[in-house]
Amino acid sequence: MRLMLLALLLAGPSASAEPYHLIPGRVPLDWQGPDGNTVILDAPRGLIVFDTGRSPMHAQAILDYAKSRHRPIAAIVNSHWHLDHTTGNYDLRQVYPKAAVYASTAIEGALVGFLNKGREQGDKMLADPNVSEGQKAQLIRGRYRVDHPDTLRPTRPIVRSGRMTIAGRTLDVHLAKFAATEGDVWVYDPKSRTLIVGDLVVGLVPFMDTACPEGWAKALDEVAAAPFTTLIPGHGGPMSRADYLAWRKAFNDFIDCGHSAADKKQCVNGWEHDAGKFVDPEHRNYVRGAADYYLTTRLRSSPDEQQRYCKKLKSS
Ligand SMILES: [Zn+2]
Repeated sequence: MRLMLLALLLAGPSASAEPYHLIPGRVPLDWQGPDGNTVILDAPRGLIVFDTGRSPMHAQAILDYAKSRHRPIAAIVNSHWHLDHTTGNYDLRQVYPKAAVYASTAIEGALVGFLNKGREQGDKMLADPNVSEGQKAQLIRGRYRVDHPDTLRPTRPIVRSGRMTIAGRTLDVHLAKFAATEGDVWVYDPKSRTLIVGDLVVGLVPFMDTACPEGWAKALDEVAAAPFTTLIPGHGGPMSRADYLAWRKAFNDFIDCGHSAADKKQCVNGWEHDAGKFVDPEHRNYVRGAADYYLTTRLRSSPDEQQRYCKKLKSS
């Protein structure tokens, strides 16, 4: 009996009761910005980590889990390049340098566009004495990634959809072009009927900073066609199929409202009502503010601006 207990202790915690292990991304309401969700699957050659978060605490939680399981991180899959999903790649690969990184090549367009612009803004904030030391540390952490793009680039670029073997485990890997980013990766695990979709689905509000709404809506239709029972979004809790279909309707209605002549407030109220069940009450004001921001900056901006992320970004 004692021996059995010892064996259990040595083995550490076993795999979750769920067919995956979820490390939920935090959504702090200050300058920190959110961490994306991390989903971990067991594979014959080690752990597969979907998205790696932004904060050092999030990366540490992933490393702690791998350690507790006595299994190496064999592969990282990035749903998209946004830094709240990729900053931890480098932390993980410091410990597991052999971990392969699967992602689309959309990072290349981001480096010349969005991330480059973000770096300029970050530099201004670093020079500002009113910005807190904590925020500066986060800016420096992000800037290091942008200045060393190999910390963000895939080692195994995903250029098309198809069945793939990652770390010895078979998964259906999908590439959605021009959706939340220029290339979003989402994965279906046929064994557990689980979908891991990154920010194609967000429990808060669709993060549209680098989005092509039409491509995104198309990707959501493809997601609906997968025979899943559980879907894990980029932020927020796991969803059933019914939850997902309700979320997709809320997304489509929000886009339609944004493109109509309706009062902006009506669109924000619509999102709050339709997606309310996915939003933590403490995030309600944040969600209203973000919905209003995306209406102004994306859905009701100039026609050129609206189409900016619907085509390949070129270096200039
Ligand atoms: Zn995100």
